[in-house]
Amino acid sequence: MVVILDRGISAHHKRAVRAFLSEHRYQIRELLQDGEPIIGAVGGDPLDQRQVEELPGVTQVIPLNQPYKLASREFKGTETEIAIGPIKIGGGRLAVVAGPCAVESREQIFEVAAQLRESGAVALRGGAFKPRTSPYSFQGLGKPGVELLKEAGEHFGMPIFSEVVAAEYLPMLADCVDVLQVGARNMQNFELLKRVGALGKPVLLKRGLAATIEDLLMSAEYLMAHGTDAVILCERGIRTFETYTRNTLDLSAIPVVKKLSHLPILVDPSHGTGRRDQVQPMALAGVAAGADGILVEVHPDPDTARSDGPQSLYPGQFEKLMRDIERLAPVLGKEVLRLPRIDGPGHPAGSMPDAAGEAVSVAFQGERGAHSENAIYQYFAKPRPVPGREFQDVFRMVLDGTVDYGVLPVENSLTGSIHQNYDLLMQYPDVHIVGEITIRIRWCLIAPLGSSIAQIRRVLSHPQGLAQCARFLAGFPDWEEVPFYDTAGAVAEVARNGDVTQAALAGAAAAREHGMEILAEGVETDIQNYTRFVALARDGQAQVADPTRASIVFSARDEPGSLFHVLQVLADNNLNMKKLESRPIPGSPWEYMFYVDLDVPAERALFDHAMEQVQAAAASYRLLGMYRSNQGR
Ligand code: PEP
Ligand code: MN
Repeated sequence: MVVILDRGISAHHKRAVRAFLSEHRYQIRELLQDGEPIIGAVGGDPLDQRQVEELPGVTQVIPLNQPYKLASREFKGTETEIAIGPIKIGGGRLAVVAGPCAVESREQIFEVAAQLRESGAVALRGGAFKPRTSPYSFQGLGKPGVELLKEAGEHFGMPIFSEVVAAEYLPMLADCVDVLQVGARNMQNFELLKRVGALGKPVLLKRGLAATIEDLLMSAEYLMAHGTDAVILCERGIRTFETYTRNTLDLSAIPVVKKLSHLPILVDPSHGTGRRDQVQPMALAGVAAGADGILVEVHPDPDTARSDGPQSLYPGQFEKLMRDIERLAPVLGKEVLRLPRIDGPGHPAGSMPDAAGEAVSVAFQGERGAHSENAIYQYFAKPRPVPGREFQDVFRMVLDGTVDYGVLPVENSLTGSIHQNYDLLMQYPDVHIVGEITIRIRWCLIAPLGSSIAQIRRVLSHPQGLAQCARFLAGFPDWEEVPFYDTAGAVAEVARNGDVTQAALAGAAAAREHGMEILAEGVETDIQNYTRFVALARDGQAQVADPTRASIVFSARDEPGSLFHVLQVLADNNLNMKKLESRPIPGSPWEYMFYVDLDVPAERALFDHAMEQVQAAAASYRLLGMYRSNQGR
């Protein structure tokens, strides 16, 4: 049963509820459900629900209808995110776990790990104890195999997954691996599940060859009832009458599991099909069906693999699959997880590299000389700007550590929010706002050296540039106005063809970048023209001391007064709201997220406490970042 407690329940009454349930031999888990304090109680003696409902501080008791309790959505409505070293699986992220079926040698595991790391896998898999159909087949290297996997994982900074086939190997495996894999054949080895669960470590639980979805969730329940909350499920194909493929990958299990359980689920297209040529399409299909990532076999030389060669991808095929997953992710509104690059700057967590006057790399969207690059120079003492083609490239470079920071425009004082970037902030939960930069946008008419205003016939710029300089352009009615994708790109184009009758509207920096002449400066119609940029960093990369502003996003419940109740929390806590904007939720027509910027009071604990209340009042909540606003407190 789920026992919903009064939000203001006293510690004394809560202890009494717990004691009552323990006396009746219930296992107890305390958690927050949509912000409400709840106690999950499973496995005890049959009780009349009213006995619990009558206890002081209890609001409601909801019986759990499913046979699996801790693993069910009824028990926990929000998706579980499982932290494994530097990564988190679940919660809108796509994790790619890859490696050979079995660890075969030091050369093999190091070679493939290097390739996988380079292509973008976030964790390394490899069996050392192999459950093979034939006793004469390769059974794995055993303990030395686990040690090699561990060495490779440490060398490349990748968490490792490996299978446990029997309880006797558990102490050794638990010491070495980050995630214990329980394979399809052991999914219903309940004694093993109890022992594995009791370790409290993350577990990857693969669906058995003849297991129903309910069987899978019941096995997850075993693990959870015995002590771990970190269970990752895996759909790896089941036996059907079809023999063309090794198994039948049951993709429909993915949305079903997502509906019934809060646990993340990976899809294993390798064992699911048994054939290399089907791995790529089924991996993409699994991701499209809602999986939180894939578990896939890759071998440096599949033709010589000692197990599962025919289903193992060549490293080049894996590289292509990674790129395809990256293309699919934005459609699903998901972040493709990345590890920090090995050759990246690697600043210790918690330090702001630029604060010490060190040079930092900062990604921006556009060509050299763009307004975003200008914003970078205003904010960082010693920046090295790195251009990217799309806004999304900025997120990608921040996430994988190609750069220390990113800078993105979020709002213009004349034209409003740049919604695409708000959507991207939602899509990348591991990228946070750590700073704010507001710059005045000054437009210049820029032409090749030796040109003059009298000679100009055509003017190129981003449609925003043309619109913001309309009054100036109205003075030259015979000029042809040519819209261009990017302002600095327009300058580059004019510079390339060197035609003195062409000009571009852009910032002064773009003129300097291309050695061009500024024919007129400050040609914007309204001089109150500002763009607000945010500086972004990877989670844990930069700690902002004494933040003055926070950006949050939340969705309200579908009931009367729900938005009002969230805003009421802000008012009651005396928090000053600087901005409120709503955006449609991608994929959910007519549902909205609310973006709010807030002043952070000097006493940080007040803010944290208020945010707990916001979280309780809202249907969903995320802190996008805390930073020092250039508009003060
Ligand atoms: C494996 O992942 O190597 C494996 C043996 O998988 P399964 O248990 O799904 O057959
Ligand atoms: Mn295998």
